[in-house]
Amino acid sequence: MENGGMNNENKCWGFKGNSELTKAADVTIRGVLYMLLSKLNQSDPRNVIPLGHGDPSAFPCFRTSQSAQDAIVDSLCSAKFNGYSPTVGILPARMAVAEYLSQDLPNKLSPDDVFLTVGCAQAIQTILTVLAGSKANILLPRPGYPYYEAVAQSCNLEVRHFDLLPENGWEADLEAVETLADENTAAIVVINPGNPCGNVYTYLHLQKVAETAKKLGILVIADEVYDHLAFGKNPFVPMGVFGSITPVVTLGSISKRWIVPGWRLGWLVINDSNGILKGHGIIDCITGYLNISCDPPTFIQGAVPDILGKTKEDFFTNIVSMIKEAANTCYDGISDVPGIICPSKPEGSMFVMVKLDISLFGDIEDDVDFCVKLAQEESVIILPGITVGLKNWLRVTFAIEPSALKEGIKRLNAFCERHSKKA
Ligand SMILES: *Cc1c(COP(=O)(O)O)cnc(C)c1O
Repeated sequence: MENGGMNNENKCWGFKGNSELTKAADVTIRGVLYMLLSKLNQSDPRNVIPLGHGDPSAFPCFRTSQSAQDAIVDSLCSAKFNGYSPTVGILPARMAVAEYLSQDLPNKLSPDDVFLTVGCAQAIQTILTVLAGSKANILLPRPGYPYYEAVAQSCNLEVRHFDLLPENGWEADLEAVETLADENTAAIVVINPGNPCGNVYTYLHLQKVAETAKKLGILVIADEVYDHLAFGKNPFVPMGVFGSITPVVTLGSISKRWIVPGWRLGWLVINDSNGILKGHGIIDCITGYLNISCDPPTFIQGAVPDILGKTKEDFFTNIVSMIKEAANTCYDGISDVPGIICPSKPEGSMFVMVKLDISLFGDIEDDVDFCVKLAQEESVIILPGITVGLKNWLRVTFAIEPSALKEGIKRLNAFCERHSKKA
């Protein structure tokens, strides 16, 4: 043997993988969806119906706007954006984001309040890492978006969960929030419009969240990646409106509203008219963290002023009305499926949470078992609720092509009838 007979297994290598990372990755949406995809029956001739993840970009009816595409081409061809970008992002793009968000705010943002990130995901990573101190904890919604839990785990930030209440339109249980918080609590996360619940909060509820945060001396992290994707009774209200009550860090991106999650352009924005975050060194920490991480590609940043400034209103109106119609199809269709309960009609984002009545099924153990068998037997992918914190629920995305959605609900119905005890 070339290595002199040395047995690799007995050699004491000086490295090993960080097991916290595999643990964290297992519980992400991606991790669970890959597991379900591996269960598909390859000999099923039918198409796979993806009701698991919120990325409608694959469907022709959800193509992004012409002006967004042109903006990228123009940026690329200008040859002005081939270099490294500054840590915080290029100034014209930060100005454009400040202007875009300020349209809905009482206090105008300055470009200095804006940090460009690699999608909303890096904005989450940044703020959580910045807040992770020796004993710090963060309050996360349950059900929620498991990327927060995964990132918190990887940076040793303690997580405490408060419930969203289905009977109250998935509003946060703010009484519980007050009892959960202590002197080491740094922030509360609010996702609005909601993933996974499809809720849109009222002005009043958001104000109560801000006031609770003020009382507790914590900041609000407002995940508004689904900004303006609201189609029910409540209009979308940005949390930044309450930035004078308590500091609000708004996270967003072009991924969902423009249906281009692959472009990886997001932002972290400070709404803090009293300068509290600056006084506590948070702004310097954000810059410091971004200094040691990757930037969004410069030519994508170069396109931001035109993407945000030139996309016509009818593009948004059309997308929102398609999603609204899909939400109705999904809600009405699933309401008729035996063994599945829809406590509230989705009014925003691209998702709805529905509850399984496990006792009605003969041979289904729990939500994971349900989703695995559904993938195997019907080639339909749905996310088990446990992934987002609610066992024996399902998160269904309706932002897919209408005929595929109808087909998916039909198969779901057939599956539930076949497995119900009565059958
Ligand atoms: C999709 C999503 C993100 C991540 O957004 P990207 O811009 O794709 O990184 C963050 N938060 C929530 C709630 C999401 O649904």
